[in-house]
Amino acid sequence: MTAIRLDGKVVSAAVAERLRERVATLPFAPKLVFVRVGEDPASAYYVRSKERMAKRVGVVSETHVLPDTASQAEVEAVVRGLNDDDEVDGILVQLPLPEGLDPQPVLDLIDPDKDVDGLHPVNVGRLWTGRPALAPATPRGLLALLDHYGVEIEGRHVVIVGRSNLVGRPAAALFQHRNATVTMAHSRTRDLAAVTRQGDIVVAAAGRARVITADMVAPGAAVLDVGMTREADGIAGDVDPAVGEVAGYLTPMPGGTGLMTVAMVIDTTVEAAVRRRARR
Ligand code: NAP
Repeated sequence: MTAIRLDGKVVSAAVAERLRERVATLPFAPKLVFVRVGEDPASAYYVRSKERMAKRVGVVSETHVLPDTASQAEVEAVVRGLNDDDEVDGILVQLPLPEGLDPQPVLDLIDPDKDVDGLHPVNVGRLWTGRPALAPATPRGLLALLDHYGVEIEGRHVVIVGRSNLVGRPAAALFQHRNATVTMAHSRTRDLAAVTRQGDIVVAAAGRARVITADMVAPGAAVLDVGMTREADGIAGDVDPAVGEVAGYLTPMPGGTGLMTVAMVIDTTVEAAVRRRARR
């Protein structure tokens, strides 16, 4: 690959070090609580990774594990309890919830000031209107990667493939706040290749293995691979590895955007803790 690696391992370690130093200066230890329902192995893995990162920087974390037989009311009761606990700075309900549980009412119940996944409508509204918001970690991680490697954002054309509430939409808001020109593509976009070829920066968040091929990328573009599709021989990104011969910058898979998500969720927790405790 000739593209420069946007290395999530290097940048997440830098974020962790900065956080560790910041937390050490605080008069309290921020506290993050995970809520995990059922035994989905991927969810358990993600929570463990975030717990490890929390520990590394001095954030206290705790995990509530509910059985997959838990009712909607039981899950919501846990969230209510955490909202009311003044020592809790961040609440993260790990998705997906088991079949039969509706995630939206659970997410809507989280105190917006403790909503470290940034999925509560109040935070979505704050983010889009340019007010201080808790924003989702994955798109925040994309900007942190570009900033670390000095890839300019202002004035550049960012093409985002995928419009989910978790990745594509908040990424669009964050890139606009940084004065990029943003195009959102999705499953109904006609001639996706013609659109992605216009991108100085391309965010691939469709969740379709290798959907972005080398002919779809302008020479020198920065390509950020968010997609993670489980396949028989491992996890595939949305970006075909041959893109690395055309792009100027590319995130590796694994070792790219996923590691940044873990670091940025802890970063958001520290930010949430500082803001909330300053107000009380
Ligand atoms: P999602 O809710 O399924 O959204 C996928 C989006 O991609 C939708 O907007 C969809 O369009 C669009 N899309 C699907 N197929 C497409 C195609 N062939 N061409 C163009 N657009 C297409 O998924 P998500 O939650 O955003 O996650 C996306 C991927 O990122 C998944 O693989 C997920 O595992 C991964 N992920 C990674 C991280 C990380 O830290 N790296 C974090 C979160 C998620 P429509 O809106 O028209 O349906």
